[in-house]
Amino acid sequence: MGDNYITTLKILIIGESGVGKSSLMLRFTNDEFDSEQALTIGVDFKSKIIEIDNNCAKLAIWDTAGQERFRTLTPSYYRDAQGAILVYDVNKRSTFQKLDSWLHELEIYGTRPNMVKMVVGNKIDVQSREVSREEGFKFAKRHRTLFLETSAKTSEGVKEAFEEVVRKILETDSLWEP
Ligand code: GDP
Ligand code: MG
Repeated sequence: MGDNYITTLKILIIGESGVGKSSLMLRFTNDEFDSEQALTIGVDFKSKIIEIDNNCAKLAIWDTAGQERFRTLTPSYYRDAQGAILVYDVNKRSTFQKLDSWLHELEIYGTRPNMVKMVVGNKIDVQSREVSREEGFKFAKRHRTLFLETSAKTSEGVKEAFEEVVRKILETDSLWEP
């Protein structure tokens, strides 16, 4: 357990508007879900301290505050992020097809060479799936990212998604950080 200091990890949540980015963050940080969701505006990031494999980490989870709609995320949004969660809606193929361009954004603006990425297919509680689990998994594998399916509504997979990203960052960072 780190008793002298706590590592702060910056984790981004990106993806098309409406896929559930803010909801995933809210589910993870406050264990809440809001079907109305008018909370995006003005939220920069939320902090949460978690303990994982005997390590303590303070997460700064960055939401896009609705700016993704206009593709106006600034370089400072991406700067120094150690992890990124790329979200699509499994019931909306167009959001899955946009993952390529979100990965591209990360390549351009990400400043850490070994940023940990996870692709997340959200809204699996809804019964109108357009993207199979297999397809999501294959995409992630091709791009060497982690992969999970989630529901911010039922909580399924949410904690696991964030924890897996953190675990991987801690593993990766310990290999290269001075
Ligand atoms: P964002 O634009 O990516 O931040 O998406 P929001 O978090 O604002 O969610 C958009 C809408 O989808 C809201 O009405 C949410 O309540 C809803 N939503 C988000 N996640 C889920 C989910 O896992 N299941 C269901 N059924 N609805 C969800
Ligand atoms: Mg939002």
